[in-house]
Amino acid sequence: MIINKLKLTNYRNYDNLDINLNEKLNIIIGKNAQGKTNILESIYVLALTKSYMSVNDKNLVKFGCNYSIIEGEVKYHDYLKKFKIKISDTGKHVLINDKDIKKMSDYISNLKVIIFSSENIHMLKEGPGVRRKFLNMEISQLSLKYVKILMDYNNIIKQKNEYLKLNNINMDYLSILNNKIAQLSVEIFLFRKDFIESINKILSDIFFEIMGIDGLKIKYISNIDFYDNKEIMIDKCIEKLNRYNEKESLYKISLIGPHRDDFIFVLNDKNVSLHCSQGQLRSIVLSLKLAEVQLFSNKTGESPILLLDDIFSELDSEKKNNLIRYIKDNVQTIITTTDINMIDEKLVKKASVFIINNGKIFPGK
Ligand code: ATP
Ligand code: MG
Repeated sequence: MIINKLKLTNYRNYDNLDINLNEKLNIIIGKNAQGKTNILESIYVLALTKSYMSVNDKNLVKFGCNYSIIEGEVKYHDYLKKFKIKISDTGKHVLINDKDIKKMSDYISNLKVIIFSSENIHMLKEGPGVRRKFLNMEISQLSLKYVKILMDYNNIIKQKNEYLKLNNINMDYLSILNNKIAQLSVEIFLFRKDFIESINKILSDIFFEIMGIDGLKIKYISNIDFYDNKEIMIDKCIEKLNRYNEKESLYKISLIGPHRDDFIFVLNDKNVSLHCSQGQLRSIVLSLKLAEVQLFSNKTGESPILLLDDIFSELDSEKKNNLIRYIKDNVQTIITTTDINMIDEKLVKKASVFIINNGKIFPGK
């Protein structure tokens, strides 16, 4: 898919931005703090209704304004769709082709984007919540069913946690909740397992091509036990949840389920976050994002939009050249940089170049 047009009103440091994008490569140049990342972030928000950064929606609205609008026109194989999202004090509204969409789950997964930014590197160093958010955001783009299951799951876990806070806890009632939780937990587990296995089929080759090191993998960590048979998995999960009833009543919080999941990257069976260099960590996350582009294209038949925030910094020239091979004509790509000299001349030649200066855009060539 291709985002042809992007329009921003009162978004971050933009009063108004109106930009026609190239269907292949776009390069956004600008000094620090001019609004390059903000443009990529806005496309991400247009797709997923929230930022990949840990920020409240109101941070997306320009200082001093009370609403913000992001609009985009997106071309699929043989049709166009217009997306619009309005963020204000009263909440968030999303529209497709000017029609209000009531349920976020009907909106998300229409527009697919993969973003790489230095924020993503935190994924390797921070707590598991960041990694779960990543899994949820990515799988949500691939499956509407996952969005719905996840919403149901979050609701029931919230309900259970509220119940666990009470003084007189009825174990039978907990078991009733556990039955439902087990079904949803197994569904979520299987989606995540499938996603990680599919990524693993591609990830190590990409990392090898960029860095020349073999053996990169993602290892999924869950307290749900895997069995080949789904019904058995659900039964085992119910048993486990019920075994934890007493402990959970004591701790007053639910301890078992995919809301406690995590994953790590391993390089030849060693956890990368404990021993890799900064450049390696960056390339690991970048390889993950490039693997996702292939996965999304294979699973949906449409290539996602690839947003690469400042990818060439911190990489030596050999790695840069290896990486350039992954910037493909059949994937619409938007790259930001502070220095056009960082980007290979051949790429610049075929790209649309834009200059950003203090929230204003100018043609770059
Ligand atoms: P760098 O090269 O350092 O990554 P950048 O061009 O990517 O810079 P952005 O992060 O896109 O810069 O934009 C940062 C600017 O946006 C900052 O000047 C910041 O103050 C401004 N900004 C962020 N949020 C808002 C907001 N809600 N209202 C107004 N300005 C904002
Ligand atoms: Mg930036």
